[in-house]
Amino acid sequence: MTSPVPVPASGPGAILDVRGLRKVYAGQGRSVEAVRDLTFGVAPGELVCIVGPSGAGKTTLLRCIAGLLDLTAGSVELSGRKVAGPPEGMAVVFQEYGRSLFPWLTVRQNVELPLKEKGLAKADRRAKVAEALEAVGLTDSAGAHPWQLSGGMQQRVAIARAVAYEPQVLLMDEPFAAVDAQTRADLEDLVRTLWQRLGVTVLFVTHDIDEAVYLGQRVLVLSNRPTVILEDVKVDLPDERDQLNTRATPRFAELRHHVYELIQQAKQGRRPDGEEAP
Ligand code: ADP
Repeated sequence: MTSPVPVPASGPGAILDVRGLRKVYAGQGRSVEAVRDLTFGVAPGELVCIVGPSGAGKTTLLRCIAGLLDLTAGSVELSGRKVAGPPEGMAVVFQEYGRSLFPWLTVRQNVELPLKEKGLAKADRRAKVAEALEAVGLTDSAGAHPWQLSGGMQQRVAIARAVAYEPQVLLMDEPFAAVDAQTRADLEDLVRTLWQRLGVTVLFVTHDIDEAVYLGQRVLVLSNRPTVILEDVKVDLPDERDQLNTRATPRFAELRHHVYELIQQAKQGRRPDGEEAP
């Protein structure tokens, strides 16, 4: 396995380019500045995690990137094209798998639906659905309905649906926050396996520091609201990772410690050097 190529902070070479992103929620007489100023790039084929304290604006950021929320200022570009509404080349996996799958459709039909919307021919759809279900280990459950499956299996259906769509960028918003620890570890490994096998670019939001370090090639640590990037941490662990050995290495412990400290500082209101306090 080769080590990741150096990544541009933003600009040419980034498949996802976020510049000066600001989001203010405007309410009746009251506004909330959720995200102040975010600039970063994600290179093709990279796996980047975003961590930050609760309420830091992680979900807001992801929804802005996915074209689900209007930006107050700044821009998001996917492969050089401005995102203004959900773009074709992105798929999102949310935390609430229960709400993201259609209970009246089978597993196979759930995975197939976006491919139908994309206009793929039936034979092509069948092949892609079978491949995606095989990749997440759910071939035998293709005819089941989501409510007949465990939470972890339902989330695997959501992942299969996203990868079958063959997105350029896969966005994941705390996808494993609602499953038990054992299932979560299995799903983390599934994400790394799919990422390596399919070469998809992944942006993974989590509040779990260990998860971010275990999964990512980089971890973007966010400040408290209004959000800016506190540090872009390079995760220089080997590409081959496993739950027992990787987490037991001194380097994993160091990185975890560093990100943990940053989050503590973020909670206490630390801003990047030179940035004015809100
Ligand atoms: P995180 O995902 O990091 O927990 P969020 O993106 O959910 O953070 O929220 C960031 C901030 O924006 C919070 O202070 C939250 O209360 C506020 N916020 C989120 N959604 C809305 C909304 N629709 N209207 C007003 N404020 C919101």
